[in-house]
Amino acid sequence: MKTVGRVALIGAGPGDPDLLTVRGRRLLRHADVVVYDRLVDTRLLELAPAHARLVFAGKESGHHAQPQEKINAILVAEARRGHRVVRLKGGDPFVFGRGGEEAVALAAAGIRFEVVPGVTSAVAAPAYAGIPVTHRGVASSFAVVTGHECDGKGRGVDWAALATAVDTLVVLMGAGRLAAIARELIAHGRAGDTPTALVRAATTLDQETVATTLGAVAAGEVRLPAPVVMVIGDVVALRPTLRWFDRPRRRASAAQAPRYARRTWSSASKSEARPSRTIRPVSIT
Ligand code: SAH
Repeated sequence: MKTVGRVALIGAGPGDPDLLTVRGRRLLRHADVVVYDRLVDTRLLELAPAHARLVFAGKESGHHAQPQEKINAILVAEARRGHRVVRLKGGDPFVFGRGGEEAVALAAAGIRFEVVPGVTSAVAAPAYAGIPVTHRGVASSFAVVTGHECDGKGRGVDWAALATAVDTLVVLMGAGRLAAIARELIAHGRAGDTPTALVRAATTLDQETVATTLGAVAAGEVRLPAPVVMVIGDVVALRPTLRWFDRPRRRASAAQAPRYARRTWSSASKSEARPSRTIRPVSIT
């Protein structure tokens, strides 16, 4: 009798491979096939057994390396071959990762699957910038929003309602539209002096954080390339007290950098500044 395989939709975490869950690691170690995304650190693939087939399914913004239907079809076909399939996705698989669509396809095909939640960048990027998304007396709600739909035609995000209804707003996939999003929020009543942070490549060697105001972002003064999380709200003001990962450098040069252009790691200081924990290979027990 033919064994029927199964699929695990696993969240790989926001960047640092150490942030994979224990269950994710266990399943990865027993995978026959691993289908992984662009934002997944390839060091995690070393956890898969030597015989495992590795399939890149990444999508560049605007370039679909593999159409979603094709990815769904690969998952179904490999499971039907009796394989243990791991679908490894950045952050959490059900937070803007299209994991839900893959799960729907698997359910429709009658394939057994499980979901292993991951550490989402929506919470991890602020945390690694020293920003709690909620804080007693400061913020009692937060919302995670896609920046993709701020192009005038998208009706998915109700910016007018969100502008003042939620204490902390976390915007994903907004890199190319940060100014437009900030302007939209200000137009709907969010104060221009609301503390705002941009965190790029969070939890990795390349993490950069810019703390500024919503008004400065609206004015186009701050830009960072993807992947960027934008955090808007008074909790951002806690960063000077709580920053721990990207500690300010003591050198005078860093202190003299323009206020909104201050970057957390200069490229020259990466090796000395990076916490040694993140350099270690992930094949730990
Ligand atoms: N499922 C993922 C999100 C996928 S959408 C999660 O839960 O994290 C991709 C977006 O996530 C990017 O455009 C960016 O906004 C955000 N993102 C993912 N990894 C990031 C990182 N290390 N630093 C900053 N933003 C990140």
